[in-house]
Amino acid sequence: MSSPCQSTDRLACAADIPAVDRLLKQAGIIALVQQHGHQLVTQQLRYVLNELRQQALANALPMHQLEPGTLLLRFNEHLKRYLQPKLRPMINLTGTVLHTNLGRALLPDEAIQSVVTALKTPSNLEFDVATGKRGDRDDLIEDLICELTGAEAATVVNNNAAAVLLMLGTMATDKEVIVSRGELVEIGGAFRIPDIMKRAGAQLVEVGTTNRTHAYDYESAITTNTGMLMKVHCSNYAVVGFTKEVPLDEMVAIGRRHGIPTTVDLGSGTLVDLAQWGLPQEPTVKQTIEAGADVVTFSGDKLLGGPQAGLIVGRKDLIQAIKKNPLKRALRVGKLTLAALEPVLSLYRSPELLSERLTTLRLLTRPQAEMQQQANFLQPLLQQTLGADYCVEAEPMFSQIGSGAMPVDVLPSYGLAVRYVGSGRAGRPIMQVEQWLRGLDRPVIGRIHHDTLYLDLRCLSDEDLTQLPLLWSTPLA
Ligand SMILES: *Cc1c(COP(=O)(O)O)cnc(C)c1O
Repeated sequence: MSSPCQSTDRLACAADIPAVDRLLKQAGIIALVQQHGHQLVTQQLRYVLNELRQQALANALPMHQLEPGTLLLRFNEHLKRYLQPKLRPMINLTGTVLHTNLGRALLPDEAIQSVVTALKTPSNLEFDVATGKRGDRDDLIEDLICELTGAEAATVVNNNAAAVLLMLGTMATDKEVIVSRGELVEIGGAFRIPDIMKRAGAQLVEVGTTNRTHAYDYESAITTNTGMLMKVHCSNYAVVGFTKEVPLDEMVAIGRRHGIPTTVDLGSGTLVDLAQWGLPQEPTVKQTIEAGADVVTFSGDKLLGGPQAGLIVGRKDLIQAIKKNPLKRALRVGKLTLAALEPVLSLYRSPELLSERLTTLRLLTRPQAEMQQQANFLQPLLQQTLGADYCVEAEPMFSQIGSGAMPVDVLPSYGLAVRYVGSGRAGRPIMQVEQWLRGLDRPVIGRIHHDTLYLDLRCLSDEDLTQLPLLWSTPLA
């Protein structure tokens, strides 16, 4: 038997693989060296040549793959994949506005500009311009947060999970924390009230039942070692039917009678009454403070519409103690977060303009007719790409707020529904469309329900709308 090298079937063998040095002299490769440098190109050339060598050794490399033009093309594709950033822009057509896996809130231009400036120029992050002395980064936004929430004092950390951890770790280490059984929340990504309690060194005391907790449940659980009464927002579920929870002001009254603080993890924590825009009602941070909560924690990138952050507001002495906790240094926010947060908070000073200016609120209150117009424009394009085996229709649908904000409420929306009308079962063909959309240069993410692929256009910007015709001209494989 002859080896592939001697045979005439045009399979390459290892000896046919060109040397790196020779390739480095080719015009196409020289251009790449100019763009990316010698080290990167040589290293990646070695990688690709090694791949080819393995293929050759397995007698699976046709000779024509080693032609200079073909090789260059392969190398270019490899480089493109290798250099593509892992964090990529996508198009969110899931219908979930605050999608945790897609990065939650999108920020308004004011915040983006402020971050760019903070990236490029020195700032007074921890510098008191008036005295020339060292400053505290919290001072930059504490007054603004207090103005908007009515709280005495405020501080900011990395996210709300950190806020809860720091609050518990400061106020309740080695003490009992009384929480209703109906509020022992697990948030996606492994944030669980009982676990965070343990990590903070606090002892959870569950009271009441899953569906009903009464004032006397809290009252009779109080001991000399009780550190706080805590209320947790049922962010991502609803307890319905035969239920009873103790209103915050009643909890506060019980706590005060015993000299015990009452704290609230609000989760999403909105700063304005969303009902004025026809959205479901949520207790605002201000109302929570007014009801007497001693400390309140909430997220920066949920309904607030800002960057990832955890805000802690409340009584001055307690916030002071939280700031002094050594953990605060480990959980503090960076300047980019502060740069983004201040302009977002500032928008709340003009509440009647908020639904135009705050991106999250604009998306949540988008007129259905606007989305319908986009849907009518896109429907024939997608229908044409998918062909006669699929039926694409522009139709009304329902969006979700997301991120555990108002879990059971939905918003009337508009978008495209893709159904399989060819022969055979619909499951696989619909999944193929979902995969095709996900595989585009700019991945488009929809939602499958009952063998229908829904592309909810609530979060589709005008800019992305103009990109879709080109993206959708890629044929379905
Ligand atoms: C979302 C949420 C958290 C976690 O907040 P992050 O900002 O995601 O860390 C904690 N508690 C509740 C009730 C929540 O809804």
